[in-house]
Amino acid sequence: MKLLEEKILSEGKVLSDTVLKVDTFLNHQIDPQLMQAIGKEFAERFSDAKVTKIVTIESSGIAPATMTGLELQVPVIFARKRKSLTLSSNLYTATVYSFTKQESNDISISKDMIGKDDVVLLIDDFLANGQALKGLYDLVKQAGAQVAGAGIVIEKGFQSGGNDIREAGIRVESLAIIDSLSNGQIRFRGEKAS
Ligand code: 5GP
Repeated sequence: MKLLEEKILSEGKVLSDTVLKVDTFLNHQIDPQLMQAIGKEFAERFSDAKVTKIVTIESSGIAPATMTGLELQVPVIFARKRKSLTLSSNLYTATVYSFTKQESNDISISKDMIGKDDVVLLIDDFLANGQALKGLYDLVKQAGAQVAGAGIVIEKGFQSGGNDIREAGIRVESLAIIDSLSNGQIRFRGEKAS
């Protein structure tokens, strides 16, 4: 998605060979116009999938997921990372190792939110080693629902998650795929090394 790639190039900060910071439009400050365009793009790509619900993970998945839900006119559920007084029982739970925080967290959604007749689109901000996406997939499967696929804003194609998940037969649509962050340079899939 050209608009997104341009934004990544102009505002993304390469923190290391594996980590990209996009705090000005996705992970801290949010660019609503860009999120709206992202929602439209996901909705178009999954327009044939008969999606009934969207599932994401707090917090950075919520903006792109909500915009997609608005386009597809379906509810959006975000998996919670912490239990709370209002969300403590009747839960589907999966354990996810966080790439950026380097710790394991349980993620949960209420059993009331998804049923076996649902067709669920998973959305997340980044795909790296695939732990977050696998956790979301696991939650939806516990509910007995169908997974239409996954919409990812930024996939880091040099990490294993994308391959693993596609090989497992799950459709993954990534709006930007980065093949390298080496030498402080962002290189998208299909670009030649300069
Ligand atoms: P995975 O579970 O696929 O290894 O990592 C995906 C999760 O880690 C995403 O939900 C995202 O929050 C975070 N993440 C992974 N890589 C990056 C990165 O390069 N930059 C940022 N900002 N977050 C990342």
